[in-house]
Amino acid sequence: MAEVLVLTDHNGGRLRKSTAELLTIARRLGEPSAVHVGPGADAAQKTLAKYGAHKVYVVDDPDAASFLVAPQAEILAALVEKVSPAAVLVPSNAAGKEIAARLAIKTGSGLITDAVDVRAGDDGIETTQSVFAGSYTVTAKVTTGTPIICLKPNSVGIEAAPEAGTVEAVDITVSDAAKAAKVTDSQPKKATGRPELTEAAIVVSGGRGTGGDFGPVEEFADSLGAAVGASRAAVDAGWYPHSNQVGQTGKQVSPQLYVAAGISGAIQHRAGMQTSKTIVAVNKDEEAPIFELVDFGVVGDLFQVLPQATGEVRKRKG
Ligand code: FAD
Repeated sequence: MAEVLVLTDHNGGRLRKSTAELLTIARRLGEPSAVHVGPGADAAQKTLAKYGAHKVYVVDDPDAASFLVAPQAEILAALVEKVSPAAVLVPSNAAGKEIAARLAIKTGSGLITDAVDVRAGDDGIETTQSVFAGSYTVTAKVTTGTPIICLKPNSVGIEAAPEAGTVEAVDITVSDAAKAAKVTDSQPKKATGRPELTEAAIVVSGGRGTGGDFGPVEEFADSLGAAVGASRAAVDAGWYPHSNQVGQTGKQVSPQLYVAAGISGAIQHRAGMQTSKTIVAVNKDEEAPIFELVDFGVVGDLFQVLPQATGEVRKRKG
């Protein structure tokens, strides 16, 4: 069975949930092999094996870890040449898409971004892809080279696997050209205790309708164990950090549940959230465009609706 390379998504060795999702998908296509660039492979190995990695290629080169995305593309390109995988799977986030694009150029392969499903078809690997800022869902396949596929976080349910993995250290020299930009410092985001926006199962977002008071949005999010998102109008007004912006020029999220409070539903906001499984909106304007795409809509003032919903959730949780 051909190998399927999965680029691990981690922070100093701490794996993000997207890695388990990629491994779950990889098992449908062939034999998953994780590619771990940077430190922490020993700690990560057990989790990687749990989700089906038969092998873990480890490149623990300090150069590779501190030089942003270019070395990772080079490492993947070298592995593509070495093992001729059936596919390469990468998370569909900002870094993953840049790595995948560079890899596609290096290997002369086709690339599919923002896939929400991937399966082995009769005639090669098939993907369901969200395109044109989420306005269309298309079935697509790579027809040239090695399929390189970026999978949107939260698109698939994670399934554990019984296999055990082995670690293979790979010696790949990173070129000087790939070291043209280096990370010189990094500051962790202020801890909020909330899940990471793109990984969260539930996201509660606030928009201009909050008038700058995100209290009810945060309270409701905390009652559900959710992440907090914001529209660009709220971010531009300085009410919430850009790192929480959902949309075309913010983050793309695909949670099980997305709650939009005081958000009108502009196309650029939809681009970041319309692949969410269930969408709920609270808006006092019943004509607001957000109601065109919701599963459940509440016409009302968020300052009344959200505290009531928070109280109800807390009561039911006991
Ligand atoms: P508004 O459109 O002003 O809507 C506010 C809503 O709140 C209204 O529907 C109103 O009825 C409702 N409301 C008011 N008070 C209450 C209340 N008390 N209770 C309940 N409801 C209330 N936007 C993004 O979000 N993300 C992006 O990434 C993004 N990228 C963009 C990129 C480009 C190139 C451009 C041109 C625009 C982009 N935008 C983006 C901006 C986008 O076009 C909208 O302007 C923005 O999404 C509007 O934010 P909003 O819905 O919070 O505000």
